[in-house]
Amino acid sequence: MKIAAYEVRPDEKPIIEGLCKDYGIDLVSTPANLDATTMGMAEGCQGVTTLGQSDYSNEVLDTLRGYGVKVLASRCVGYNHMNVDYARRLGFRLCNGSYAPNGVAEYTVMAILVAIRKFKKAIYNTDDNDFTLKGKMGRELRSLTVGVVGTGKIGFTVCKLLSSFGCRILAYDVYQNDAVREYAEYVDLDTIYAESDVITIHTPHLPSTTGMINKEAIKKMKKGVVLIDNARGELCDVDALIEGMETEKIGALFMDAFPGETGIIHVPHNEDIVRTEGMPWFKLKYLRSFVNFVHTPHMAFFTEEAAASMAQCGVDSIREILTDGKSSHEIPE
Ligand code: NAD
Repeated sequence: MKIAAYEVRPDEKPIIEGLCKDYGIDLVSTPANLDATTMGMAEGCQGVTTLGQSDYSNEVLDTLRGYGVKVLASRCVGYNHMNVDYARRLGFRLCNGSYAPNGVAEYTVMAILVAIRKFKKAIYNTDDNDFTLKGKMGRELRSLTVGVVGTGKIGFTVCKLLSSFGCRILAYDVYQNDAVREYAEYVDLDTIYAESDVITIHTPHLPSTTGMINKEAIKKMKKGVVLIDNARGELCDVDALIEGMETEKIGALFMDAFPGETGIIHVPHNEDIVRTEGMPWFKLKYLRSFVNFVHTPHMAFFTEEAAASMAQCGVDSIREILTDGKSSHEIPE
């Protein structure tokens, strides 16, 4: 068995190499993304694993199929980038990564605290020897209502962690989960918008959720609402966010993801000019100029624990499908 591993970060390399050695799998690996210029590395491999920035275009998939690749395994949880329909038509078996939701959930609690305690302003001012309290008065979670949209693995864990702060927690999901009721009250989306001081979204990026945080949604929210998007940038309409920030309808905004970030995020761009078709880069730059806006580089997942699980999923899922014909990591049809 031979595997081609793309987008291999330095922290993943020893884990992937170690697993392949233990299982007797031949490995070729590169830090580069899978794309038309690098796909040749997969010739002679039965499995290919990547993270989330690779190019699964029809051309790349056709070529991989021609090489005899049978399994494509994203080490990320998200698989929007995998051109799933076309890959399935070509007969590929598709897998994704999994890891405990705690890293992202803890990061979300941090994001909420950063926002409600005016942490960006505190750091900026203090670095500039402005030790005043001006503009830095915060809120305590125990007196706030937090709305959690999407109560899957991460949203549920956010509810659980938040419960210790004593805040009122409202939840919304298209499928309700009984375990969530121990910590939160399910309500409809309009009630979340109308009653929450803080709203955090944890839905996947689907046609039905694309741009769900738009002008109409923001209009229904409380003045000064704190918005957290540590899920997918595409869940938000950026123009609506900008209007919300300019009019102070949004009191604080924290985004660990931004629309169109694929191919840009996790890559250094401090010495080049960023040219993007999909990503409204100048709008991100503008938002960053607000002291109540925080953007981080899609790093909520990035803990030692999660990174090790992801690397393991990449190798295990390919090995399991090729040896046992099935894997718990396979993406359901
Ligand atoms: P999950 O599949 O466990 O949960 C998603 C939940 O959203 C499900 O309960 C689903 O029913 C619900 N949902 C779907 N459509 C909805 C809608 N229209 N309205 C309300 N709820 C809806 O997923 P998860 O693992 O909890 O991940 C949540 C999000 O976090 C995803 O967008 C994922 O891509 C993102 N994520 C981000 C990072 C990061 O590093 N920033 C890391 C992992 C996951």
